[in-house]
Amino acid sequence: MKVKILGCSGSETIGHMPPGFLVNEVLMLDAGTITAALSIEAQSKITDILISHTHLDHIKSLLFLADNIIGRIKKPVNIRAIPKVIDAIRKHLMNDLIWPDFTRIPTPKNPVLAYAPMPVNKTVSIAGLKVKAIPMNHPVPAVGFLVSDGKSSFLYSADTGPNEGLWKEAAKAKNLSAIIVDTSFPNSLDGIATLSGHFTPGQLHRDLAKARVANDVPIYIYHVKPVHKKKVISELKGLGRKNVKILVEGKTYHF
Ligand SMILES: [Zn+2]
Ligand SMILES: [Zn+2]
Repeated sequence: MKVKILGCSGSETIGHMPPGFLVNEVLMLDAGTITAALSIEAQSKITDILISHTHLDHIKSLLFLADNIIGRIKKPVNIRAIPKVIDAIRKHLMNDLIWPDFTRIPTPKNPVLAYAPMPVNKTVSIAGLKVKAIPMNHPVPAVGFLVSDGKSSFLYSADTGPNEGLWKEAAKAKNLSAIIVDTSFPNSLDGIATLSGHFTPGQLHRDLAKARVANDVPIYIYHVKPVHKKKVISELKGLGRKNVKILVEGKTYHF
């Protein structure tokens, strides 16, 4: 699978964009960054968008995408998420107040976007791939995604703090070629990380010590807060785990 990292930061500032990964040019994992990183032509190729949870850094580009691709696509783009996430987007975001309801524009019969509820812990077929949503540990309902093309798979934790379920899924996954996992705050902000449902390097280390994941599976860190990046990277290096790497914004990976 070809995975282009449009953004993978825990906030937004110059050179750091919120999470959005483009898989095989048609499927997005989260929508923190789409429109600021892709041409209109590339935006128009997207058929499905998986949303992990409602936090703005994972959904905001949906709004501008709808605006950009209207009149350029034949079928609505599917917004795929658990029902609670869809309800919140409908009620609080595309509610004809904060933003127009693009699931009814230009016509309710043939809109730009369509909501497609996803089950949890069940594999479904999306955009030619198999996808399973897995519950995460975050202050709002959140899932990560296991994505597979039949030959290989990768696991995206989305936002989470320590989470047994994540590593159980990683241990079970067939042909796992990468894990993308949250590490947002340095060890000194352990309390804030715990409150906000994110890993610190130390917390990640303790979870990995319990996890039964092969040592040669690369673990790519995402969602680092830009203001803490130096500290977080140096603490991650200090763990001495060779397979822990930093996910690079703008880079295309083959998983
Ligand atoms: Zn979040
Ligand atoms: Zn986030």
